[in-house]
Amino acid sequence: MSASGQNIPQVPLFINGQKVASKSTNIRNVVNPATQEILATVPFATMDEVNAAVASAKEAFKTWKKTPIGARSRIFLKYQQLIRENMKELAAILTAEQGKTLADAEGDVFRGLEVVEHASGIGNLQLGDFANNVANGVDTYSLLQPLGVCAGITPFNFPAMIPLWMFPMAIATGNTFILKPSEQDPMVTMRLVELAAEAGVPPGVLNVVHGGEEVVNAICDHPDIKAISFVGSTKVGTHVYNRASLKGKRVQCMMGAKNHAIILPDANKEQTLNNLAGAAFGAAGQRCMAISVAILVGEAKDWVADLAAKALTLKVSAGVEPGTDIGPLVSKDAHKRVTGFIDKGVAEGATLALDGRSPQVKGYEGGNFVGPTIFSGVKPGMVIYDQEIFGPVLCVSFAENLDEAIQMINANPNGNGTAIFTQSGAAARKFQEEIDVGQIGINVPIPVPVPMFSFTGSRASKLGDLGPYGKQVIAFYTQTKTVTERWFDDSTVSTGVNTTISLK
Ligand code: NAD
Repeated sequence: MSASGQNIPQVPLFINGQKVASKSTNIRNVVNPATQEILATVPFATMDEVNAAVASAKEAFKTWKKTPIGARSRIFLKYQQLIRENMKELAAILTAEQGKTLADAEGDVFRGLEVVEHASGIGNLQLGDFANNVANGVDTYSLLQPLGVCAGITPFNFPAMIPLWMFPMAIATGNTFILKPSEQDPMVTMRLVELAAEAGVPPGVLNVVHGGEEVVNAICDHPDIKAISFVGSTKVGTHVYNRASLKGKRVQCMMGAKNHAIILPDANKEQTLNNLAGAAFGAAGQRCMAISVAILVGEAKDWVADLAAKALTLKVSAGVEPGTDIGPLVSKDAHKRVTGFIDKGVAEGATLALDGRSPQVKGYEGGNFVGPTIFSGVKPGMVIYDQEIFGPVLCVSFAENLDEAIQMINANPNGNGTAIFTQSGAAARKFQEEIDVGQIGINVPIPVPVPMFSFTGSRASKLGDLGPYGKQVIAFYTQTKTVTERWFDDSTVSTGVNTTISLK
């Protein structure tokens, strides 16, 4: 029962096309981060329940892999329509459990919807190659066949987009799937799964188990799971990569970040400050592609006060309140961690140009709010530079020139996203060529690729060769078979025994 006396619903598992009430006694609350209202409880699935989900996916694969391309495509055409029709409801659930503004929640769903649209064109993507007459009367062709049961493990910060990066492409290519959403905000993910079933995804093809470390480890170890897609922190992703790889699985892990923007003094100042403030503080800084370090080059060093003034215009409040720019952090723990980092930055001697530790948010006094915070004079070696804060905290560093700024970024262990603001094509091109980072923006602060391309990452931000969605994910979710064939023409005179490796 909640404080208001209402029964609190429990988020079900989803196994073999059915919502299943877990038998688990290990349960945690899903909490509205603006109000602390308990919205639901989420059970951490038992090992029997994980095994039942995998068994259901394994059984369903027998028929799903044979389903014609057109039939699979039509399910995703229907699915994209259902997501559009339910957009407002999905965004409202997402804002309630995660905290981001309603407009940004719609963006979260929309960026996932684009991947669903892409999945509906799977027939154009899952094509093999064919070479005619590679030897006398011999042709060679390749088949891209589904792997079997695949799994996805997702973070709290994009509970719609990131699950939609995963299961639509896996299922459209003919696999069956086990999804393990973030235990912090599983409700919108579950609604998306219900809609997928309504669109025609058959029982067993998509299953959901909830949980934390124990369930994730079971997914890494399960002999019937062939591939795992993970998005989350570097620490957990590295563990998942190592553990699941040792079990012979194909694994891709998109992980943590410290995304730098370089601001050259020739950049359009107003546009640049708007972009920086949006990318550093939007979603309360809880985006893996948020700008968390701005390197002001040369005379741009004088822009800090104007940047702080811009940040001060942003409204901090609950995501449902009209005009809100920055919602709460996802949890009390996240609030403690982020304010702890700000305390450390002060103790380390960085200049606190804007302090967001105590925002006044009328009507939501219990919310996990941190206002926009800016440190200047930040250097490598400071904790606020070296670690991912994942909150609305922007570190400002200074560089004499572009070379120095590029060197600083390439020396950082992370390589997720980066951006440059300039009017110089030559500077932008030099940046693009010399920077070792996966996603690069040129006057674009959050360059998340659209689904024709793949999300990627360098160094500590990614493990595994192939990214989620886009062309690369077709290779991730399929096994290539290469067929070399010759049909004997009855009239052909036998050439006798060939004891060499040459095709004759
Ligand atoms: P997280 O690593 O704590 O959790 C991710 C998933 O792993 C969740 O499903 C969680 O239940 C599970 N998990 C947590 N602890 C575990 C453990 N000890 N063992 C096994 N599994 C465990 O990440 P988060 O806090 O939910 O998300 C924020 C992080 O995700 C940030 O580091 C952010 O940069 C990163 N992220 C990266 C991308 C990207 O594309 N590179 C996108 C979004 C988020």
